[in-house]
Formats: sequence, structure tokens, C-alpha cells
Amino acid sequence: MSFTKILLLLALAVGIYLLWRGFKAHKRAASPPPLENAAPDSRSANAVEDLTACPACGAYMAVNSPACGRADCPRKK
Ligand SMILES: [Zn+2]
Repeated sequence: MSFTKILLLLALAVGIYLLWRGFKAHKRAASPPPLENAAPDSRSANAVEDLTACPACGAYMAVNSPACGRADCPRKK
């Protein structure tokens, strides 16, 4: 193998490494944090699955939803 070929291979390796690093940094900057995307989906899924009637007002609401406003509502405020 000639010296020129070794230099070319080294330049190619460095170029690929720099491209890979730039691609990773670009991907991290472009995609938002995963929690922002996942949280609303799981919350709405729970709201559909866990509807219960409030003993005080009779309204059907998600288990984790806040109190309806009545003084005798047992839900957490
Ligand atoms: Zn209520």
C-alpha cells in the first residue's frame, strides 16, 4: 500500500467521523424531548379508559381529573 493511499484512507475516515458527529448533533437538535410527545398521548388514553361517576355531582370524569367545584365533591382539588 502506498503512502498516498494511506493518507486518502485517513482523510476518508476523518470525513466520515465528522459527518457522523454532525448528523448526531443535528438529530438531537431537531427532535424535541421524548417526554413532550409521549405525555399527552398516555394522559388521553387514561381519560378514555378510567371514567367514573362523581358521587356528589354524578358527572362522568376521568379518575385523575380535578374536583368539579362542588363543596362535597370527594375528588382532589
Ligand atoms: Zn364532583
